Amino acid sequence: MHDQSPSSSRQQPQPAQTGAESRVRDRVRQIATDLGQTAIREVLFVDGNSFMARYDTRHDTLTFQRGWMDAAGGPESDAVTWTIHHELGHRGDKNASTVAWMTGLAVLVVIPVAALVWGLWRSISDAVKNDFVFETDTLLPAVASILIGVAIVAPLRWLLEFRADDFAADRLGDADGLGAAFDATPSTIGRRTGTPTHPPVRTRLGRQRRRHPRAA
Ligand SMILES: [Zn+2]
Repeated sequence: MHDQSPSSSRQQPQPAQTGAESRVRDRVRQIATDLGQTAIREVLFVDGNSFMARYDTRHDTLTFQRGWMDAAGGPESDAVTWTIHHELGHRGDKNASTVAWMTGLAVLVVIPVAALVWGLWRSISDAVKNDFVFETDTLLPAVASILIGVAIVAPLRWLLEFRADDFAADRLGDADGLGAAFDATPSTIGRRTGTPTHPPVRTRLGRQRRRHPRAA
């Protein structure tokens, strides 16, 4: 068990410290080798149980939450096995991840900033003729472009999650670990509706159960 210190949400992820953490790290390295991937740079741990694990493409690190790993049943559990495969699925899906990242940069940063500059430029050129009045309309193009951007990026991010789930289910032959992984996560945020980055839990489970029907 792990103490949840109040500062846990901001703490720095650390390398494996306990026997269980070393076993997870060794399992990640072994599964990566089995999948034909290169050795992952680092497997890290952080307190808490709000998510399962997170793969960081830029630093090539995989971070697990200690509280979640305990709730999931430890390093050898189905949930941890599933999660390692899912995250390494993301790791192997580099081209699709890059497309999603570049699209996100364009539609959530570049276009909104351009819309904001355009809106401000219009207000300022109006102000040359009249008194400068900051109209909320100035922000409308930027706000609208962010909303449209989320509508473009969310399906791409959902697709990446489905692809990582498909990869794990196809390697493991079933989706039991996915259900177990969700059961160990108390957070209900996005469970029914999904979030901009993750499809609803029910949709993800339903998809894998259709792809891998249980033998009767
Ligand atoms: Zn994922």
